[in-house]
Amino acid sequence: MGSISKEHSIGTDGCQMHERRLSLKDTTSNDFRAVKRDYDHRVFVNRSLALEKIKCYGFDMDYTLAMYSSPDHEELGFELLLDRLVCIGYPHEILEYKYDPSYPTRGLVFDNLFGNLLKVDSNGNILVCTHGFHFLKGPEIWKYYPNKIIQRDDTRRFHVLNTLFNLSETYLYACLVDFFTNCTRYLNCDTGYGHGNLFMSFKSIHQDVRDAMDYMHDSGCLKEKTLEDLKKYVIKDPRTPILLSRMREVGKVFLATNSDYNYTDAIMTYLFDDGQDPDKDIDTIKKSWRSYFDLIVVDTRKPLFFAEGTVLRQVNTDNGKLRIGTYTGPHQHCAVYSGGSSDIVCDLLGVKGKEILYVGDHIFGDILKSKKKQGWRTFLVVPELAKELTVWGHKSELFDELKNLDVVLAQSYQHMDSSSTKHPDISSIQKQIQMPHESTVEHVSADGPDESKEQLYFYGKQRLTQLTHDSSEEDN
Ligand SMILES: [Mg+2]
Repeated sequence: MGSISKEHSIGTDGCQMHERRLSLKDTTSNDFRAVKRDYDHRVFVNRSLALEKIKCYGFDMDYTLAMYSSPDHEELGFELLLDRLVCIGYPHEILEYKYDPSYPTRGLVFDNLFGNLLKVDSNGNILVCTHGFHFLKGPEIWKYYPNKIIQRDDTRRFHVLNTLFNLSETYLYACLVDFFTNCTRYLNCDTGYGHGNLFMSFKSIHQDVRDAMDYMHDSGCLKEKTLEDLKKYVIKDPRTPILLSRMREVGKVFLATNSDYNYTDAIMTYLFDDGQDPDKDIDTIKKSWRSYFDLIVVDTRKPLFFAEGTVLRQVNTDNGKLRIGTYTGPHQHCAVYSGGSSDIVCDLLGVKGKEILYVGDHIFGDILKSKKKQGWRTFLVVPELAKELTVWGHKSELFDELKNLDVVLAQSYQHMDSSSTKHPDISSIQKQIQMPHESTVEHVSADGPDESKEQLYFYGKQRLTQLTHDSSEEDN
C-alpha cells in the first residue's frame, strides 16, 4: 500500500490532543484494520488540520456537549407539537399518531406546494418522494416534478429539515398529510384540502407547523419537560469534564450557545455534576461547570452571532437576569455573557479566527457561517455517521458486488456508438442489482429489523433507477 494515513485524535485517553501518523508501509491490510478505532471513536477530516496551531476550542451546547436521548427527546417534541396544533384548531384525531423514529431522517425537504417529503441529492435530483406515508413511484413523481429535480434554493417553497430538532417536525408533516388525505371529511386537492367552504393549503399546514415549532421553543415547554426528567432526555457522558480539562491544558475553551442562561445552567450542571458528593453545595456545583470555560456566552442567536451579532450583556448568575447596558469591561473568568458576536469572542479571548476550532452540530448556524464569515476552523458533530459507516463496513461485499455490476453494465455499452442499432439486453443485470436487497431482507434477525436493510434497499433502488434511467436515455 505504501500510503500514509493521517488520523487526528481528540481523545480522553491521552494527556493532550495529538496528531498521529501511521506508517502503513509494512502493514498488511488485516493489521491496518486491527489498529483502527471503532467508527464512533474516529474523527474524520476533509482537509488537513494542524492541531498545534489551534489555540482555542469553542463549543455549542445543544446536540454538541449536551446530547439528547433519541428517540425519547424527539418523541417528546412530537407530542408537544401535536398538542399545540390541537390547541389552534386541528382535529383531536391527530393525537392518535405515535412518533416512529424509523421514518424521519435528517436533511429531508418538505415541499409546501404539494405536501411531499423529498430526499434529494446535492443537485436537487429527487431520490425518494413520499406523500404522507405513501412512497411515490416513478410516474407519480414525474407528475409532480416534470424534471424530477427541484430548485433547492427556492426556500419559499422548499423547507430543508436539517437539524436533529427537525426530526419530530419531519414526522409530523407525514402524519398530517396522511390524516387529511385519508379522512373522508376532507376533499383531496392538488395543493391542499377542501373542507366545506374552507381550503387548507399545504403551505398553510407548513406555516402552522412552523408556528408550533416556534411556540414549542419560545414558550419554553420543551425545555421545561426536558428539565423535569434529565435522566431520560439528556445523555450524561462522564468523559466530557475530562475532555474539557485536557483541552484547557493546551488552549482556551469557550461555550457559545443559543440557549438562555437558566436552561444552559441546568443542563451543564447535570452534565458536569460528578455525582460523587450528594451533600455538595449547589453553588459549588454551578461554579464547577463554569470553571471549565474561559468564556461562556448564552443567547448567541447564531448564525447572526457570526455576522453583526447583538448587544453583549453580562448575566447575573444568581438569578439569570441580564444586566442592563452593554458590557465594555475586561473579560472576567467564570463570568457569563449574553448575546455578542464572534468578533467579541476573539477580542475577549485574545485569539484570531484561524486559531479557533469550533465544535457544533448545525451545518448552517454553527459550521458554514463561522467558517465562511470568520475563518474559524470547524468540527461538525454528526451522530448518524457511525451508524451509516457501520452499515457500509458490514455490507461492503454487497456494495462491491453492486460496483462490479456497474462495470458489467458499462461493458455492455462500451462499443456502442451512434451507428448502433441493437440494444444490449440488461434485464439480467438489473435483476442482479436487486439481489443485495432481497438477500438482506431474507436475513432479518429475529431480534428486530436489520438496520442495514433500509440503506441497502435505498442504494439498490437508487442504482437501479439511475441505471435504468441512464439506459433509457441512451435508448432515446
Ligand atoms: Mg446545537
